[in-house]
Amino acid sequence: MPAVETLRTDVLVIGTGIGGLFFAIKAAPHGRVLVLTKKASADSNTNWAQGGIAAVTAPDDSVEQHVRDTLEAGDGLCSPEVVRAVVEAGPARVRELMELGVRFSTVPSPPDGVSAEGEPGAPAALSLAREGGHSRRRIVRAGDLTGREIERALLRSVGGLPWVELREHWLGVDLLLREGNGVSQCAGAVALDVREQRLVYVLADVTVLATGGCGQAYRYTTNPPIATGDGIAMAYRAGAVTANMEFMQFHPTALYPADEEPFLISEAVRGEGAVLRRRDGEPFMGRYHALRSLAPRDVVARAIDREMKDHGDEFVLLDLSPIPKETLLERFPNILAECQRRGYDPFGEPLPVVPAAHYMCGGIRTDLRGQSSIPRLLVVGEAGCTGLHGANRLASNSLLEAVVVGGNAAERAGELLQAGPRISHAPVIDPGGEDAAVEAMSATEGPYRRLRESIRRILWDEVGIVRREARLRRATQKIAAIHREFEQLAAGRAYSEGQNEIRNLLQVAALIIESALWRRESRGLHFTLDHPQRDPAFERDTLLVLRRVRDGAA
Ligand SMILES: Cc1cc2nc3c(=O)[nH]c(=O)nc-3n(C[C@H](O)[C@H](O)[C@H](O)COP(=O)(O)OP(=O)(O)OC[C@H]3O[C@@H](n4cnc5c(N)ncnc54)[C@H](O)[C@@H]3O)c2cc1C
Repeated sequence: MPAVETLRTDVLVIGTGIGGLFFAIKAAPHGRVLVLTKKASADSNTNWAQGGIAAVTAPDDSVEQHVRDTLEAGDGLCSPEVVRAVVEAGPARVRELMELGVRFSTVPSPPDGVSAEGEPGAPAALSLAREGGHSRRRIVRAGDLTGREIERALLRSVGGLPWVELREHWLGVDLLLREGNGVSQCAGAVALDVREQRLVYVLADVTVLATGGCGQAYRYTTNPPIATGDGIAMAYRAGAVTANMEFMQFHPTALYPADEEPFLISEAVRGEGAVLRRRDGEPFMGRYHALRSLAPRDVVARAIDREMKDHGDEFVLLDLSPIPKETLLERFPNILAECQRRGYDPFGEPLPVVPAAHYMCGGIRTDLRGQSSIPRLLVVGEAGCTGLHGANRLASNSLLEAVVVGGNAAERAGELLQAGPRISHAPVIDPGGEDAAVEAMSATEGPYRRLRESIRRILWDEVGIVRREARLRRATQKIAAIHREFEQLAAGRAYSEGQNEIRNLLQVAALIIESALWRRESRGLHFTLDHPQRDPAFERDTLLVLRRVRDGAA
């Protein structure tokens, strides 16, 4: 077996979405930062975010109102202190994004809000959108391509920093731990240099997971292929505490079919007047909620799921005809263009849509500075769970959380680097125990493709929008069977990218199912027909941690 190569850096960041990039920029003054990303640098959920970033910038808005809206969406599980701190920090972090070159949409003559230059009362004010659950217009946006603009500007900034090195096509595989005085500390990560097909130990004083969410665990998702929950699985395997993994947010309207190349039809389209109809043309939302097609996201997703199941339909329709053509063209140029590129005529026919897994509210438990339960391991963005979202995320609060916690975590990293002592060269433990032999195989080819599709189908069918305990138990067995099949398959092969992805999807699937089984009530995004009401006994987080068996004792 060839020896594994070793690299050293002060700070290792895994992931190049908003969380990882913002962190890297802010951490750069504290030391050398190595940023790894498994595909091209812009391949991220961030790049697909359409709506925007929620922050209190309008004169008629207030921290109190944003806090209240967030708590209401979170259905009793938000941490009020975390919510307040994130909301309070929002406007300053939005200004920092602008200073880094993000060009948000503006309106020519302002009320006396925060200007596009970050100055109160200056000539151009931010153009704010309103989204479901927000009592005010407070979504700072860049047209309907906010994420792409943020990603562009942050990548450009990172490119200009001599102390930050970014390597594309480097896959984080497992965290490295170092034991001392009975405590495991994070000492970096095992990474796969995909192009060179070699495993490398990257030793770091501070390691940051910014690997995003896990929508790819579901057959229908709005998330791009990178969203396989790698960081969550890596941290769990290393012994970190995970929280609230049952709370997967389903977006009601992804363009059908949503499995190969997913595309989201923003909630703002319904905000402007689009109507949901069954395939036979019947508008159905009136039977579910007084706000009809504008009901909260989880209500709409459940209603669509019910209609599809009751009528045996593969999708429902989103009728854009109530929206004036000029409004459509002005507000949603990218959505229209993408629909047309896929062969739909959004002006002439309703669009087929399905609900799709969209955002993981749970993740690796951290504090407001991204500190996980493992010393020297920080987590930022969607991979983490700070307590901001509770049982349901308020729209556009995720980019906000990533940028606020990303900035805080950079300060924490600076403290850790200054405090010393640095991680020594003592032997590290690789909890995954990868073999140094590597073979090139992606999860979309060969024997792994079938396993990947099976996992996604099981979660969609058995652990979806409306749940039942019996189905969750069936899912546990099915996932365990796939796990056995996977282990047999993996045992005979060298390490590969595809193997890694299936391993992580299996891990994340198991965490989602176990968390869902534990919560014997319905709250926020978790709805089970066996316990359709909220139960005060479950007004707490679902925490899971891997128990290692040491010396024969559990
Ligand atoms: C279609 C869509 C629309 C959305 N709209 C909004 C919105 O309007 N407002 C809002 O607030 N939120 C929105 N969201 C959610 C938001 O985009 C994400 O929560 C946020 O961008 C996550 O940022 P992140 O930095 O945590 O992760 P990501 O942006 O997902 O980045 C993760 C990074 O980690 C890399 N990575 C993953 N695993 C590994 C590994 N093993 N090794 C190396 N690299 C790895 C990926 O390649 C990627 O670079 C939307 C999401 C989607 C999918």
